[in-house]
Amino acid sequence: MLIAALAYRPIFWKLMPMTTRNTEQPLPTQGIDPTSAGLQAILDNIDALVYVADFKTHNLLYMNAYGRSVWGDFTEGQKCWEVLQNADGPCSFCTNHLLIGSDGHACGIHVWEFKNEISQRWYQCRDQAITWTDGQLARLEIATDITDRKNIEMALQKAQQNAEALSLQDELTGLNNRRAFFQIGGQFLKQAQRHQSPMAAVMFDLDHFKQINDSHGHEAGDTVLREVGKILLANVRESDIAARVVGEEFAVLLPSTSQALAMDLAERLRLTLQELQIHYRQTVLQVTASIGVAMLSADDGQLEPLLSRADEAMYISKTEGRNKVSLFLQRRN
Ligand code: GH3
Ligand code: MG
Ligand code: MG
Repeated sequence: MLIAALAYRPIFWKLMPMTTRNTEQPLPTQGIDPTSAGLQAILDNIDALVYVADFKTHNLLYMNAYGRSVWGDFTEGQKCWEVLQNADGPCSFCTNHLLIGSDGHACGIHVWEFKNEISQRWYQCRDQAITWTDGQLARLEIATDITDRKNIEMALQKAQQNAEALSLQDELTGLNNRRAFFQIGGQFLKQAQRHQSPMAAVMFDLDHFKQINDSHGHEAGDTVLREVGKILLANVRESDIAARVVGEEFAVLLPSTSQALAMDLAERLRLTLQELQIHYRQTVLQVTASIGVAMLSADDGQLEPLLSRADEAMYISKTEGRNKVSLFLQRRN
């Protein structure tokens, strides 16, 4: 399978973030002759590319059966970059300079990984400087196909990123969840206090939402929540933070926003929700919301006092008949 996978003749081998390691000691390579019959039999049975190229001229000196089966036979005088990369000059990612120390001697094995963007296959390469049979310095590379491991690693990484994104996102509406709201909102609050700029909080709770679930089922309720989420997003600025904080309760933080503007937004939201017609199966569902608005005060060190004032205002809207916007009025002593 590996050989089949490598049957693409790579034209451009694009470097990806690579890992390097130069910890291992170079093998005692003086006098090793891979062209000797015994060693050749061993090298030809390795399930990886093994090749040797002259350090200075880049002439390809040796390539095992695996390499020949993928890149074809080479003739004397052909360069490694010509045979292996189909390039017309030395590779920009050649590692030769990493294989010798300032004294000009081999300094260890350099291990790195890269991806061929065309074949989409990953390789681990182990490079080292050796002394070739003619006494000249040469590079020895062993390149193993590590695509399967890389794919697993990348799938795990992606799953982890998704999990992280999900832990800040409300799965149903795609809005921020409570955790994200407090996390980002906390930063908004610090900024607002530092710059002494106004910030508003708008909270709303859907009216008689339980009845939607009870009459049309939980899925209908979910559909309503999703549509309300869309309306909310469409009505706030990119610089605002909107969230479903719990159940059928939503919140928005509006930085650099005056009380008048926050009230405008709340009223617009109320009207848009009131007009919203949600088609669910054979029925059209409608909702209204009770909204509370509160402004950040200079002594708010945290988000909670601001939100509890918005919540208090929202409760007033509920008790005064629902489908209403109320502003929390600061008590002055
Ligand atoms: P009020 O006007 O006083 O707010 O009445 P209400 O019916 O909206 O409030 P109540 O607190 O009695 O009911 C809220 C309902 O919201 C109950 C709960 O099952 C439902 N709910 C909470 N989260 C979800 C959800 O994610 N999906 C669905 N479908 N329903 C939810
Ligand atoms: Mg409710
Ligand atoms: Mg509620």
